[in-house]
Amino acid sequence: MASFSSHNFSGHKALIRVDFNVPIKNGVITDDTRIRAALPTIKKVLADGGSVVLMSHWGRPLKDIEKKPNLTLADFTLKPVAAHLATLLGTDVQFADDCISDDAAQKAAALQPGQVLLLENLRYYKQEEKGDVDFAAKLAKLGDVYVNDAFGTAHRAHASTAIIAQFFPGDKKMFGLCMEGEVTAAENVLHNNKKPFTAIIGGAKVSDKILIIENLLEKATDIIIGGGMAYTFFKAEGGHIGSSLCEDDRLDMALDLIRKADEKGVTIHLPADSIIADKFAADAATSSSLSSEVPAGWMGLDIGNMAIAHFKQVISQSKTILWNGPMGVFEMDKFQHGTKAIAEAVVEATKHGAYSLVGGGDSVAAVNKFGFADKVSYVSTGGGAMLEYFEGKELPGIAAINK
Ligand code: AMP
Repeated sequence: MASFSSHNFSGHKALIRVDFNVPIKNGVITDDTRIRAALPTIKKVLADGGSVVLMSHWGRPLKDIEKKPNLTLADFTLKPVAAHLATLLGTDVQFADDCISDDAAQKAAALQPGQVLLLENLRYYKQEEKGDVDFAAKLAKLGDVYVNDAFGTAHRAHASTAIIAQFFPGDKKMFGLCMEGEVTAAENVLHNNKKPFTAIIGGAKVSDKILIIENLLEKATDIIIGGGMAYTFFKAEGGHIGSSLCEDDRLDMALDLIRKADEKGVTIHLPADSIIADKFAADAATSSSLSSEVPAGWMGLDIGNMAIAHFKQVISQSKTILWNGPMGVFEMDKFQHGTKAIAEAVVEATKHGAYSLVGGGDSVAAVNKFGFADKVSYVSTGGGAMLEYFEGKELPGIAAINK
């Protein structure tokens, strides 16, 4: 693998896999975070005197068209992104109507240093998600250096994210700056961490987070469990949880995790008390109770004050913090307090020198909602990819470059 930062792109044509899967409504981009995230990588190539061929997926055209025959491929075009990117870069962005057509090949071949070409949506072809080698070979011809800057799809062995790398020698394939940032942040937490290392795991379901917790039992000193998933643990231990979220088929698994943590000397922290509600609604009546004594007909929708004080204490003593998943139903104002308090504690610990990584869809949404995104060490953009990384899996997009 080559280093992107030290590569001189002068006279090179960089074929960059980006993640431009941004929300577009009626042709208007409503959140351009992912496009902005790719700018440093694109600008570096252009500044060196290279040219850029960009490729991305957008949505699930073939699957959606199958379900809704009134849709056509044109509903999934990346064209609006080309226009927006041109504004952000302050330079023209050419567009090829098809990612592997003769037109795409001619436009790529004719690119001059400083010029940018965006290819149409890779997922117009089923070969992309199938990881088809011939399709990858056609894409590979469009550039002479392959740069993967799409961490969000690094857990997929797709043609443009993994298979394509085999067509480039070791010194001509590399991570872009965005991907490099994600990989470094994840490595800091998993492999170069300072102890105490606290993982804060929340969200709805234990079953979604079981692999991550199991892997973290090998790395972390403390695991804080909050959110809906905590009640499965309380029930497993004989508690009464009312109508709180619970996965009854995971009770044994929860006990098994507690036993394993004990064996490994990892402390699992559960929220002693909860904010409870008489229904799952923003206007529900609320009260508080011990999490193991939720009255019948009530449900825990946030962690309580004792839990907040306890978790804050653990977080304040941590040197490394990984946070995935909210502590409660933070989308509703009445149940956002716990998640906000934990976000504040993570920010505070970061100020005092801890390394903090927030990853996974809803916790990222939470730090954004509370305006803390720039006050933690790193916010990961790659939801599923980051989860799989923390589950200890090898991500095909990373492995393909490292080979
Ligand atoms: P996940 O995608 O697994 O991280 O779960 C995030 C979702 O879990 C958010 O939409 C939260 O509203 C929800 N959640 C968090 N705590 C609870 C809870 N105590 N009861 C029900 N849902 C919850």
